[in-house]
Amino acid sequence: MNRRILVTGGAGFLGSHLCERLLQRGDEVLCVDNYFTGTRRNVERLIGHPRFELMRHDVCFPLYVEVDEIYNLACPASPIHYQHDPVQTTKTSVHGAINMLGLAKRTNAKILQASTSEVYGDPEVHPQTEGYWGNVNPIGIRSCYDEGKRCAETLFFDYWRQHQLRIKVLRIFNTYGPSMHPNDGRVVSNFVMQALQNQDITIYGNGSQTRSFCYRDDLIDAMILMMDTSDDVTGPINVGNPNEFTIRELAEIVIELTGSSSKIINVALPQDDPTQRKPDISKATSELSWAPKVQIKEGLVKTIEYFQTML
Ligand code: NAD
Ligand code: UDP
Ligand code: UDP
Repeated sequence: MNRRILVTGGAGFLGSHLCERLLQRGDEVLCVDNYFTGTRRNVERLIGHPRFELMRHDVCFPLYVEVDEIYNLACPASPIHYQHDPVQTTKTSVHGAINMLGLAKRTNAKILQASTSEVYGDPEVHPQTEGYWGNVNPIGIRSCYDEGKRCAETLFFDYWRQHQLRIKVLRIFNTYGPSMHPNDGRVVSNFVMQALQNQDITIYGNGSQTRSFCYRDDLIDAMILMMDTSDDVTGPINVGNPNEFTIRELAEIVIELTGSSSKIINVALPQDDPTQRKPDISKATSELSWAPKVQIKEGLVKTIEYFQTML
């Protein structure tokens, strides 16, 4: 029997690739998305596949389907998108988690939550370990995302304690790659699009803040490995590439790889922008036997090739 797998947010950047990988493995995939940031174009190549089904649906509303596994990815991930309608962002994380956990409870499905490094806020512990409780502003402009995701984690662990659900929580660090939306607003897509068009590269603040960038395919490997762990593995587990760069270094690498004549300019740093971020991935190594394989230049070359086709 094929596994029936629900991917919420399946028409987004990560979700569309997850759907593709699950189909390649032989699973039946139900992709659910409200197309807020995702597009039908992302899953165009899968439409017509005999084991693929696409459904327009908002996870804030109940969903009654029969499934064996749920990957819960529905939620805008780019700050400009999740801040566009912050109330909806919190609802998506919280009501979405309640509905998907209710669905998992009724169908006895395993359920994986795409959580985030943002649960650590502006971290005072570096690199971040799963035992760190974080430093999150509860009332700032990023809170709808950070606190929504934190509450979703709470719900996952309460359904596990109270209803013995089989849960899997991954804390995903910045991930990039081909098929990010060109206007996604996150740093990699912005810098690559600006460089390819010889426009100014916009560094927010002085560019000394750091991020650690993981290539899409490595991240999808980790998600599938996590879902396939034994029931006692709940997470949370950090997944990301621990190679840390300042945003200025990232801008310089993008200019080098594109051969662009873009200038770097500095614009205002958004409120509450975390100053540093780097995952401690020892748990992912020991519990998933996973480590990222693709380093920044190799991943960026593939991403640049993709964005060239979008010009
Ligand atoms: P994305 O914005 O491309 O994908 C999110 C998808 O969710 C989109 O297709 C969007 O239309 C859909 N969606 C949003 N609200 C919905 C709703 N109410 N009902 C149904 N669908 C809805 O972002 P992504 O980078 O692919 O991120 C996927 C998941 O991974 C998100 O939950 C995000 O928080 C998490 N994550 C991503 C990163 C990253 O760096 N890419 C890092 C940490 C966590
Ligand atoms: N739910 C859903 N699909 C299902 C089962 C439940 O969307 O197949 C939703 C339902 O709207 C419910 C929520 O999940 O409000 C939580 O379900 P649970 O069984 O935990 O709680 P209850 O139904 O008691 O509120
Ligand atoms: N950033 C930037 N220029 C841009 C977009 C983002 O300097 O055009 C910075 C942003 O201020 C942050 C980092 O790059 O420090 C990563 O931003 P992104 O929105 O990709 O994700 P975040 O990790 O902040 O959620």
